[in-house]
Amino acid sequence: MTAPLRAGEPTVVNVALAGRSYDIAIGRGVLAALGRRLAALRPGARAAIVTDETVAQHHLAAAEAALALAGIAASRLVVPAGEQSKSYAGFERVCEELIAARIERGDIVIALGGGVIGDLAGFAASAIRRGVDYVQVPTTLLSQVDSSVGGKTGINSRHGKNLVGAFYQPILVLADTALLDTLPPRIMRAGYAEVAKYGLISDADFFSWLETNWRDIFAGGPAREHAIAVSCRMKAAIVARDEREAGDRALLNLGHTFGHAIEAAAGFSDRLYHGEAVAIGMALAFAFSAQRGLCAPADVERVLRHLAAVGLPTKIADMPGEKPDAERLLDLIGQDKKVRRGRLTFILARGIGRSFIAPDVDVADVRIFLADQTR
Ligand code: NAD
Ligand code: MG
Repeated sequence: MTAPLRAGEPTVVNVALAGRSYDIAIGRGVLAALGRRLAALRPGARAAIVTDETVAQHHLAAAEAALALAGIAASRLVVPAGEQSKSYAGFERVCEELIAARIERGDIVIALGGGVIGDLAGFAASAIRRGVDYVQVPTTLLSQVDSSVGGKTGINSRHGKNLVGAFYQPILVLADTALLDTLPPRIMRAGYAEVAKYGLISDADFFSWLETNWRDIFAGGPAREHAIAVSCRMKAAIVARDEREAGDRALLNLGHTFGHAIEAAAGFSDRLYHGEAVAIGMALAFAFSAQRGLCAPADVERVLRHLAAVGLPTKIADMPGEKPDAERLLDLIGQDKKVRRGRLTFILARGIGRSFIAPDVDVADVRIFLADQTR
């Protein structure tokens, strides 16, 4: 963990990928420099902003003004808010409109929105004219700390989420922390689960710091910028080591094996947001680790206490509506993750900040654990 930042000075985190390195600029008000930064990166380029209806209401005018300031002509493309835009139909529409707006090689697509817009616009940018550059301007906490960094883009298939897509890195990420001021608190909390995840994976000091400072992250003080910077630094380091998830990048899935199953059981609906499912999933991953004698029960208690303090769910019983039983969850885990000879890969923990990839977990053990958790 690094020392908290001085106010007023944007933090820059570099994602080091040979030939395709890019900066993440983080800070209150960095959106105002969007045009200036683009003009410096790609002089003379035209731009198209892809956003959703909700984000457009709050922040499109500011983004357009920032481009106008640098004399950059920009077209706009506004899709409905929500996961349903990450579809073949949404993808077709964005590609066709970008082509109609005469976005060519050398021009720039700007993804202004949460993870849905980043994944959709990034994938469209990877595909039109065999690839044009794009910039991420993430507007949710989840997208500022997670989805805008690392180059995974894509849409959903009828067989599951994110099954059609590409690894395609942006040329710049501008994370303006002030944009989060308009975010509904529940969506902010869901994104916070991914922030806590970074501490739980490999930075115990950061987790302790979060236990003390989380309120200021929600209030929009300097802690917000610091937490986003630490998160991006960790994701950038992991992505630089393992861009295509052949190894270490899997650590970022802490809480996601249980989490995805729980999210699927809730029907990928407003009943349970992704981050809320991940919060339950992380709590379960720690409890499962403790049950296997890997991690101290006191660490599990700390994880539960912190997530609950923030207002996140931590137990399957916290899910609103009908709860899945152990068999249903195991079935969903099996659809999401490869099970080889009754064994699967899990992210487990030896303690807070000491997560590791456990490649050989017996499904029978998971069944016993889940039966206990869903009783
Ligand atoms: P989202 O993009 O749907 O945003 C959530 C809601 O918040 C939307 O209704 C949106 O309109 C609204 N919103 C966004 N910014 C706002 C603002 N500043 N003020 C007010 N409202 C605002 O969802 P998300 O949680 O940001 O992202 C989820 C998506 O990200 C999923 O599709 C997931 O698969 C994807 N994802 C991708 C990666 C990756 O590596 N590419 C990683 C994690 C998640
Ligand atoms: Mg996630």
